[in-house]
Amino acid sequence: MKLYNTLSRKIEDFIPNEEGKVKFYTCGPTVYSDAHIGNIRSYIGHDILDKTLRYIGYDVTRIMNITDVGHLTSDSDYGDDKMVESAKKENKNVMDIAGYYTDRFFIDFDLVNNKVPEIVSPATSHIDDYIKIITKLIEKGYAYESGGNIYFDTSKLTEYYQLTNHKEEEMLIGAREGVDKDSNKKNQADFVLWFTKSKFDSQELKWESPWGMGYPGWHIECSGICIHHGGEYIDIHGGGVDNIFPHHTNEIAQSEAYLGHKWCNYWFHNEHLMDETGKMSKSDGATLTVSKLKEKGYDPLSYRFMCLNSHYRKQLVFNYTISNSSEQTYKKLKNRISLIKDDGELDEDAFAFYNKKFITHLEADLNTANAMTLIYDLLKNELINGHTKLELIKSFDKVLSLDLLKKEELREDHDDIIALIKSRNNAKKRKDFELADSIRDELSEKGIVLLDTREGTTYKVVGE
Ligand SMILES: [Zn+2]
Repeated sequence: MKLYNTLSRKIEDFIPNEEGKVKFYTCGPTVYSDAHIGNIRSYIGHDILDKTLRYIGYDVTRIMNITDVGHLTSDSDYGDDKMVESAKKENKNVMDIAGYYTDRFFIDFDLVNNKVPEIVSPATSHIDDYIKIITKLIEKGYAYESGGNIYFDTSKLTEYYQLTNHKEEEMLIGAREGVDKDSNKKNQADFVLWFTKSKFDSQELKWESPWGMGYPGWHIECSGICIHHGGEYIDIHGGGVDNIFPHHTNEIAQSEAYLGHKWCNYWFHNEHLMDETGKMSKSDGATLTVSKLKEKGYDPLSYRFMCLNSHYRKQLVFNYTISNSSEQTYKKLKNRISLIKDDGELDEDAFAFYNKKFITHLEADLNTANAMTLIYDLLKNELINGHTKLELIKSFDKVLSLDLLKKEELREDHDDIIALIKSRNNAKKRKDFELADSIRDELSEKGIVLLDTREGTTYKVVGE
C-alpha cells in the first residue's frame, strides 16, 4: 500500500510496526457545535483508509477522541474555551452541550456510512493520563510552570517543525495574530499543557492536579488518549490539513519528548472542502451539515459518492449544482446496478481480475475516483455474467460503503406500479400507444416518472 505521508511529504510504502496489524488514530470532533459537511468529508477519507486496510487484510484498531474540554477558540492558546462559550450562548451546562453535539455528530457520521472506530474516548475521561505525561515532561525539563499554567518548552527540541515545511519565522506569524499574547510563555511557539490560574475563571470543568485545580490544553488530550489506547507506537495518525499546525506539530513534540523515541510513522491529512467563498468553516454562522442536506432532499450517500469521486488530498468545491449532479449520477448508478440480473455462476478469474484492479487503485494513495470508474468498466463489460458483477460490487462496497446493492425503499403501491408498467410494456408491444401513454399519464399523476433504459423500464418517484 502506498500512502502520502505528511511527515516526509512523499508517497511512501506503508509498513506497520507490527506485521499485519495497524494502529490508527483519528483526531475527533470538538463537540461545541455541529460538524459541517467539510468536517465529515475528512472523516470519510479516514473511513476509506480504515476500510481499505481491512480489505487488504490488516487487523486494524482505530481510536478517536471527542474533545469536550480545553479547545480554545483559536487552535493556539488564545480566546475562550469553545465548549464554555457555546454553553453560555445556549444557556446550558458544558456536559449537556458535549452530549448533545456528540450525538448529533454520530448521526451525521452514520448517515454517510462511516464506521465508528473501535475506541472512541472523550477527553474528560483521561485526566490521569495527561497529568502523568505532563509530570514526566516537567521532570525531563521539557515543560515549565509560568503564571500558574504549565507550558511545553519548544526551544528544547531541535525538530519542532518536522511536520510542516514552513520556516519557524513563517509559523510564528500565525501565532502573533492572536489577540491576547500570552506573556507567560518563554518562547512564542510554546503551548499550554495544563491551565490553572489563567484568565478562564468561568471554566466549569476543573480537576485536581499537582499544579492546582485546572484543566488540560487541547493538544495533550490527543497524545494522552492515543498513548493510553495505542501504546508507545502508533502507525497512522490523522486529521484534517488544518490540524497539521499547531495541533499535530504539538502532539509530536510532547509525545516524543515524553516517550523518548519516534511515536508515529505516518501522518494522514485530508484536504478542505471549499464553498463559493472559500474554506468551509464552523464558525461562520450557518453550518451546512449532512442532516441538513438530507432535509433538503439529498441522499447523504450521494455526498459520500461526491467525495469519493475526488481525491482526499485535493480541495473539493461544494455547491448545489455539483450536489444535484452528484445525486443524479449516484441514483443512476444504483439504478443500473439494480437492473443487473443475478444469473450465471461466479466467474472466479473475472472476479480476481477486477478485485485486483480495485485494490491497486486504492493502494495508490487511495485513488477512490479510479475505483469508482472501475465499477462503470465492469458494468459495461458484456463478457462478465450478472452474478459475478453483483458479487464484485458487493465486495467493493465493503470499502466504498455506498449501499450500491441496497434497493430504494419501496412505496406501498410498488406492486401496483410494477403491474401498470407491465401493462404499458404489453400495450407498447401491441402498438397500442394510446393505452401506453395513458398509463404513463396515470403514473405521472402519482408522482411516478418512468425511465426507459436499455436494461428495461424502471421508475423514479419525483422529489426523492
Ligand atoms: Zn487531535
